[in-house]
Amino acid sequence: MSATLPDFQQADLAGKRVLVRLDLNVPMKEGKVSDATRIDRSLPTVKALRAMGATVVIGAHLGRPKGQVVADLSLAPLVPELEARLGEPVALAEVETARAQEASVVLLENLRFNAGEEKNSPEFAAALAATADVYIGDAFSCAHRAHASTEGVARLLPAYAGLLMREEVSALEAAVGKGERPIAAVVGGAKVSTKLAVLEHLIERVDYLIIGGGMANTFLAAQGVAIGSSLCEPDLLDTAKAIMAKADAAGRQIVLPLDVQITPAFDAPDKASVVDVNAVPNDQMILDVGPASVVALEALLDGCKTLLWNGPLGVFEVPPFDLGTNAVAQKAAALSKAGRMTSVAGGGDTVAALKHAKALEDFSYVSTAGGAFLEWLEGKELPGVAVLQR
Ligand code: AMP
Repeated sequence: MSATLPDFQQADLAGKRVLVRLDLNVPMKEGKVSDATRIDRSLPTVKALRAMGATVVIGAHLGRPKGQVVADLSLAPLVPELEARLGEPVALAEVETARAQEASVVLLENLRFNAGEEKNSPEFAAALAATADVYIGDAFSCAHRAHASTEGVARLLPAYAGLLMREEVSALEAAVGKGERPIAAVVGGAKVSTKLAVLEHLIERVDYLIIGGGMANTFLAAQGVAIGSSLCEPDLLDTAKAIMAKADAAGRQIVLPLDVQITPAFDAPDKASVVDVNAVPNDQMILDVGPASVVALEALLDGCKTLLWNGPLGVFEVPPFDLGTNAVAQKAAALSKAGRMTSVAGGGDTVAALKHAKALEDFSYVSTAGGAFLEWLEGKELPGVAVLQR
């Protein structure tokens, strides 16, 4: 657990009203919650508060109503889900009337119905503060946004971090800042451009930076390797060279594919073949790492104590281009399960890729956050975390 985040379990909250910001931005289908994962991950803090004798006021958002009341984005469908899991009534209330509610658990209506939420307006932050005596931030996945409910209100009330927030921050600290070495990071996905800041931040913080997916092509091209018709970002060749030079200077290793799976067209998986990375024909594209790369990556992971994973090694949605991601993710999962490695995964398509690889369960920690996870990997300060550390 993070030492720098104030722990609400050390406070006397019996009889207090506690406003808890949760990430309950769940997928909905026909007016019903279609995947309750975020609710389940958020409830330990609410349950702990109820056991401490506190009244809980839950603040959350759904979708992007942009400061307008949008009936389809009401949090009303969450009430029965919360009641079933908490075993007590939950009252849905507007911010202005929340304080007058007698229920022990109050769910505030979609905070983004109020224009002041995303603007972090002092008036809306004050209205939120008036709903409770104490604030708990437990929505790490929203912590990269300085909104009234994630940042402004925390300045107005005694503020603590919730259990999920503490869990996320300590997992990320363990992987990036204070991880046991050797540390490896897998950074995959489509484009270098979206992960440039991540690569630049990680290169001096990990021993091995394993670059996979479409991103690897730009690095290969920067080394003069012919990559055929593969996805490539020619305007980033110099940037890729600079990152490789930075790695050399810092004594860190960038790991690129040795062999690759190729195909003449994106929609022709039946024509897939494996070639050495230096033998990609002009009219073929790289969509995955090959078996020799997998063997090398497995051996590398065998010697590592910490692994950070963001993004797939290939086009995992289209077999057989899932083979590289599947094999390497399963290796990481097995090492983690055996207690030989701490593995932390998150961001973008990573959860889908690891689920597809049947490796998700055995990773040491899988973050629920997308954007916030990536911004942390970029080394940015997250306003919703920083405000709790004040
Ligand atoms: P991202 O959202 O940046 O993590 O990128 C994930 C996407 O990258 C997935 O949808 C993959 O299909 C795609 N991807 C992975 N490898 C490649 C590749 N070699 N060429 C093109 N796209 C890729």
